[in-house]
Amino acid sequence: TPLIEVEKIGKRYGNIIALADVSTSVHAGEVTCVLGDNGAGKSTFIKILSGAHPHSDGRLVVDGEERHFASPREALALGIATVYQDLAVVPLMPVWRNFFLGSEPTRRFGRLDTGLMKKTTKSELAAMGIDLRDVDQPIGTLSGGERQCVAIARAVYFGARVLILDEPTAALGVKQSGVVLRYVARARDRGLGVVFITHNPHHAYPVGDRFMLLRRGRSMGDHPKSEITLPE
Ligand code: ADP
Ligand code: ADP
Repeated sequence: TPLIEVEKIGKRYGNIIALADVSTSVHAGEVTCVLGDNGAGKSTFIKILSGAHPHSDGRLVVDGEERHFASPREALALGIATVYQDLAVVPLMPVWRNFFLGSEPTRRFGRLDTGLMKKTTKSELAAMGIDLRDVDQPIGTLSGGERQCVAIARAVYFGARVLILDEPTAALGVKQSGVVLRYVARARDRGLGVVFITHNPHHAYPVGDRFMLLRRGRSMGDHPKSEITLPE
């Protein structure tokens, strides 16, 4: 069974139809890309999957069970983690502190001592291919791509099975995008299901397994990579 099945999901804000009849799925070890221009409904789609806004129509099925999220906490409890574009990091705090930021996951793992948290941060990042000399440096000194990777590594470490990435490469240059894409590929290879949301199909294409294009709140279909041709 897929990790997540999105079946004809719709979202209305009063009279405004932000999403209508949107279907796709998220599978372990695969990257589902959600593409669309400004206003297409990408943010709304993220909000529904992440539990921030409940859907109005259709079915959201997680691990074979229909869900209607009333809060991000409910999605997180099922292992659905969202990495937003404006990463929830505190620039002046050390990398390791940012890694363990958020009382929810920390409580779950009990109290850890500082040395152990630093070691864990370093080894978790290294396992994903980022070799940081110094996890004591403020996270603000890392490149945008590295910060994005730390946020992804954090979600993976704290038990995410589904990673929702909100425009992870939008603010980055080509080189930094490459760093993030390699990182996304590693998360996928570790068996996570990834939802890659972007306005630029070229950014998602290298790592994508299936592609869903949104246009004015409607899905233009859900296609495997073999059926996709990129615009020039
Ligand atoms: P995208 O992220 O692709 O730019 P959005 O999901 O933000 O698209 O927006 C899709 C549509 O839904 C737009 O027409 C937007 O104006 C509308 N919309 C989004 N959020 C709200 C809201 N909270 N209230 C009313 N309309 C909204
Ligand atoms: P750099 O600073 O590395 O030279 P830029 O910021 O100048 O990169 O980006 C050049 C162009 O490439 C931009 O239009 C950007 O949107 C695009 N771009 C960024 N990342 C990627 C990617 N992974 N694949 C394709 N195009 C990308």
